[in-house]
Amino acid sequence: MSDPRPARLAKATADTLWDIIVIGGGASGLGTAVEAASRSYRTLLLEAHDYAKGTSSRSTKLVHGGVRYLAQGHIHLVRESLHERGLLRRNAPHLVHDLGFLVATYQMWRLPFYGIGLKLYDLLAGKLNLRPSRALGRKATLTHIPTLKSSRLKGGILYFDGQFDDARLAITLMRTLEDLGGVAMNAAPVTGLVKSDGRVTGVRFADSETGASYTARGRAVINATGVFVDAIRRLDEPDIAPMLTPSQGVHIVVDRRFLPGNTALMVPRTSDGRVLFAVPWHDRTLIGTTDTPVAEVIEEPRALATEIDFLLKTAADYLDPAPRRSDILSVFTGLRPLVKAEGTDTKSLSREHDLVVSGSGLITLTGGKWTTYRQMGEDAVDLATETGGLPPRPSVTATLRLHGWAENSGRNHWHVYGHDAAEIHALPGADVHLHPHLPYVEAEVRWAVRFEQARTVEDVLARRLRALFLDAAASQAMAPRVAEILAEELGRDTAWQVAQVRTFMDLAAGYLSSPNQRAV
Ligand SMILES: Cc1cc2nc3c(=O)[nH]c(=O)nc-3n(C[C@H](O)[C@H](O)[C@H](O)COP(=O)(O)OP(=O)(O)OC[C@H]3O[C@@H](n4cnc5c(N)ncnc54)[C@H](O)[C@@H]3O)c2cc1C
Repeated sequence: MSDPRPARLAKATADTLWDIIVIGGGASGLGTAVEAASRSYRTLLLEAHDYAKGTSSRSTKLVHGGVRYLAQGHIHLVRESLHERGLLRRNAPHLVHDLGFLVATYQMWRLPFYGIGLKLYDLLAGKLNLRPSRALGRKATLTHIPTLKSSRLKGGILYFDGQFDDARLAITLMRTLEDLGGVAMNAAPVTGLVKSDGRVTGVRFADSETGASYTARGRAVINATGVFVDAIRRLDEPDIAPMLTPSQGVHIVVDRRFLPGNTALMVPRTSDGRVLFAVPWHDRTLIGTTDTPVAEVIEEPRALATEIDFLLKTAADYLDPAPRRSDILSVFTGLRPLVKAEGTDTKSLSREHDLVVSGSGLITLTGGKWTTYRQMGEDAVDLATETGGLPPRPSVTATLRLHGWAENSGRNHWHVYGHDAAEIHALPGADVHLHPHLPYVEAEVRWAVRFEQARTVEDVLARRLRALFLDAAASQAMAPRVAEILAEELGRDTAWQVAQVRTFMDLAAGYLSSPNQRAV
């Protein structure tokens, strides 16, 4: 097979005047680029590393209104998120499914309290509600979560939200963008802004694989770089004050036996005043998250030992048997791009998104959540049409089916591909498993390189397949064979393969459960 990158790079570097250039390939940037291309604006998206390399592959995997935001009184945010949840459920049924969440109660008076709150949650979803919440007795509660601690248990409330695979949705949005005629490049960091008469008229970017530099001209430039937005804003105005106050959230992944069945556990108030979820995900159990202010914004944030201890301790308050540190299969950490507000702690900062335009016309989009990526994109493109003097055109994404659209009839790992799954089955290695503990086969690696812009072992094992997040040690064992297939597909030599495996081993070591303590 020939390498598909040069043809894509030729499109990205052609002498085109783009209508909209988007910097950043996470939820915000991809949502914005799909919005722009679906309105027939010429659209270029540039991603420094890989799609969803940042926060967008490290979420709790919920498409939700946010019960916590309801408790905080952010009614507008909850209503908007529930609406978007319903749209995404329709537009990407291969990636989003309904999931029951149980709020267990050990005090009788709490049952009506949570019951009324969750009825309000149902009501705010309007006609896009998934399934109505309901109260459960003690026995039914234990049927849903047999490992729930039963002594003094009174019952629970069952409500429904959406669940998804965050990095797979990012890849699907990139494919949707290309289906619509847009161009998306990964391994293409923006290194500078081009200005003319004080206005931003384009960007400078590099091809990380060759080191070559290019310029792209655009009528509007949108900075959607998540926790890195301030770095891009400084390219525009070197002395500008930061707009973000980042905090990190840690998840641990453990075996399915700690949460058998298909119902998630939602703890509405942990000892530090947060919400904690234990969620079945890709045949494992995901437990998170924390909220720890961080001083430094880095690409691979690491969990603190205290954060892992907190997750294990809180899980042990509810689950029997409870996971221990030695049961952890993977630990991953994401940074929240929270917009600064003086005098508040990060837990209570708004998850609503922010759009700002600088004096030179650079648009910055930040905040929000995965669930609201479409609305964020719509708002950003509306603003870009004004800033860039583009002809206004109405949004169509509320009903736009995403790449691979197919009804989801079950839950195995093939469903994330939607109607592409049949084509992957026809590739070589469709019946050759990469590891006995994970469902992935060799054909998926070939598919990832040919059609999903995977360039490295990490791109494959972290975001095309979710091996790194599901079982870091298993992903290390898979790395040599994945490097071999990549080398075959891309025409690389043995030295490249060896270097790829070494780099991935180091990265995956950070997802094993021995955290590297870092001062805040
Ligand atoms: C712990 C945690 C749990 C969460 N759980 C949920 C959840 O369950 N549901 C939900 O709806 N939301 C959730 N969120 C929120 C959601 O994940 C984020 O709001 C969202 O992923 C942010 O996306 P983004 O595109 O703004 O940022 P990112 O995903 O960080 O994307 C920014 C991208 O910009 C790229 N970039 C940086 N600099 C450059 C440059 N110079 N040139 C080109 N590209 C560049 C980066 O490589 C990165 O890929 C969670 C967040 C956290 C932290």
